[in-house]
Amino acid sequence: MNQCKLTMLDTGYCVHPEHVVLRNRVLRPMRFPAMFAVIEHPERGPILFDTGYAQPYLDAVRSTWTGRIYDRVTPVTTSSDQFAAARCRALGIDPNDVSLVIASHFHADHVAGLVDFPKAEILFLKSAWESVARLRGARALLKGFLPSLIPTDFEARARAIEGTEWAPLGSDLGPFQRGVDLLGDGSLIAVALPGHAAGQLGLFVRRRELPDAFLVADACWTTRSFEEHIMPSRITRLLFDDMDAYRYSLGLIGAFHKLHPEVEIIPSHCSEAHGRLVLATETP
Ligand SMILES: [Zn+2]
Repeated sequence: MNQCKLTMLDTGYCVHPEHVVLRNRVLRPMRFPAMFAVIEHPERGPILFDTGYAQPYLDAVRSTWTGRIYDRVTPVTTSSDQFAAARCRALGIDPNDVSLVIASHFHADHVAGLVDFPKAEILFLKSAWESVARLRGARALLKGFLPSLIPTDFEARARAIEGTEWAPLGSDLGPFQRGVDLLGDGSLIAVALPGHAAGQLGLFVRRRELPDAFLVADACWTTRSFEEHIMPSRITRLLFDDMDAYRYSLGLIGAFHKLHPEVEIIPSHCSEAHGRLVLATETP
């Protein structure tokens, strides 16, 4: 089985009141880093899991009313040196060499940088794209989708994971029962974590010399959420696709954590994981 090197990076952050994320908490503003992952595969080379904020997001905020409202709800701080393409270059990776971007879902803070990786195939669960593809204006905004962030050559680069690709998983990934071996070598296994967004994808990464990692994107926003099964506040019902599915996915992550505590579970916006995986590794 091939094994990968995983590097977590951020593309800036947005601000929410804490109680939005952890129910019953105070109204303290919290920073939510927008992380993405660079996965270096021994044969496929660099692969990205999400792309974070990037210039198309700032353009949408400046030039569209939906972008302005999006940014009002989740005010974003980012800059060009924090965009995923710049972060890759700082690692010595040419964005043109990225052959695959795995999109966990189509919210703006996950797909804004797609355009900066023009040679990459874009992989996602079919149900995720189908839930937003035809939405425009207010209906798109309510799903966290800004259509202008989708590259014009998206259709040519897109690879939607079909239902027929799902296969039974081994007990090492239980309680998850079905998943997709994305590269056919067991190194990257996608599972469904719906609720926050329809068709949200989670990714198991087999790492070199380290325990496996489980990238859960926005299936929960903090480590405490899955450790203690803390649901976000009711206001998030407006933003989430399906709260029952969210609760179920969160329960699966919590159960997985109890069964496999050695696996590092990484929510995309967890400040604790960000401190451990990004800030602690940055050179001063
Ligand atoms: Zn997000």
